[in-house]
Amino acid sequence: MSGRIQKSAAEQAHVAEAEQREDADRTAMRPPEGASPGHPERAGALAFCPHRMVDAVTQIAPEELKGRGIEGLILDLDNTLVLWRKEEMTEEVLAWLQALQQTGIQLCILSNSLFGKRSARMAERLGCHCVRGARKPGRRGFLRAMAEMKTSPARTAIVGDQMFTDILGGNRSGIYTIMVRPLHRREFIYTKFVSRPPERLLLRWFRKRGHI
Ligand SMILES: [Mg+2]
Repeated sequence: MSGRIQKSAAEQAHVAEAEQREDADRTAMRPPEGASPGHPERAGALAFCPHRMVDAVTQIAPEELKGRGIEGLILDLDNTLVLWRKEEMTEEVLAWLQALQQTGIQLCILSNSLFGKRSARMAERLGCHCVRGARKPGRRGFLRAMAEMKTSPARTAIVGDQMFTDILGGNRSGIYTIMVRPLHRREFIYTKFVSRPPERLLLRWFRKRGHI
């Protein structure tokens, strides 16, 4: 009899714990109090359209992201933070990343490369998260980055220079997407000759319609 009572108490505790977890999950999906309700969904053709365009990452003010309720920022590497296949960041970019961290925004490098050690080295140096083998624009890498940072789509943003990987993947994952002008014209030959021309056309089209 007492065994059954004990089991029932244990079960109740288990249910209460599960309910508490559910409540916490629900809360986590909501933007924090005082923050804007979030960003508009980018579906259909607008899945290619960033929420915001900047000339350089340093134009993104940490306080502005914080004001939007952003708690985690996903970072593209090549031609966003560093030159293509390079590892050195400018002092300005480094200072910007540190300012983000000081504001309480977590960072996660999201890299399509599976075997390269560069992103892991950079993440270690910055003291931030890193997800490799992301296969952008697939959603899995974005979900892994959010799991690392323990953030929800409403509280996450990405900054990247490519529409068909960074922006499309970010929009498909429901996060706030910021497209940055590439740091340099030197890049992967496929990107240069296959991705960039339609990217330019679409950007012009989105601009004309006032989406960016
Ligand atoms: Mg890039």
